[in-house]
Amino acid sequence: MASARASICGLSRDDFLQKIEEFHGFTAPGLVIGGLMVDMAQELIRDNMGEGIDADAIVEARHCLPDAVQIFTPCTIGNGWLKIVDWGKFALSLYDKHVKRGYRVWFDVSKAALFPNLYNWYMKKVSKKDLPIDILLESIFEAGRDALSSRAVSILNTYSGEKKGGTDICDGCGEAYPVVQGSVCLSCRGESYFELS
Ligand code: ZN
Repeated sequence: MASARASICGLSRDDFLQKIEEFHGFTAPGLVIGGLMVDMAQELIRDNMGEGIDADAIVEARHCLPDAVQIFTPCTIGNGWLKIVDWGKFALSLYDKHVKRGYRVWFDVSKAALFPNLYNWYMKKVSKKDLPIDILLESIFEAGRDALSSRAVSILNTYSGEKKGGTDICDGCGEAYPVVQGSVCLSCRGESYFELS
């Protein structure tokens, strides 16, 4: 079968699944798909742009996809090589940060429709109880890249550029903050996520 691959992100299927469980706490189906998406984007970059490219990543959903990138690439939120745009779309791009070109890979629902268990899970048409994880995983691996689509993309500066300004001491709280936030920090401007108890 065309979609049955010897390795995913350089790992056997068992090791691939084990890494997901170790990092994420459980074998989240979305993270398994995310790993397949990372694998595909990495291969597209390797085949079309050359070996040894350190790709940066942008993911388009908060759930699962950030962990797929953090497990299977050197990119993390903390090192700044992974960015999240909160669009709730199951898509990601890996790109060469120097030329700002790469590949966007997305979960293609029209293709996934050929795999009923996968499709019904993704479209929330079936409960967890009625679709055991083992069955769903089989459907995910059976589909593989046949449920994904890809396009070459150029990344716009808005997303690829680092915007690091200066640091100052906030007049309100006395803590260091990025001056780009204004004369006082965001927290003191009333946009805090906490209050003192
Ligand atoms: Zn402040």
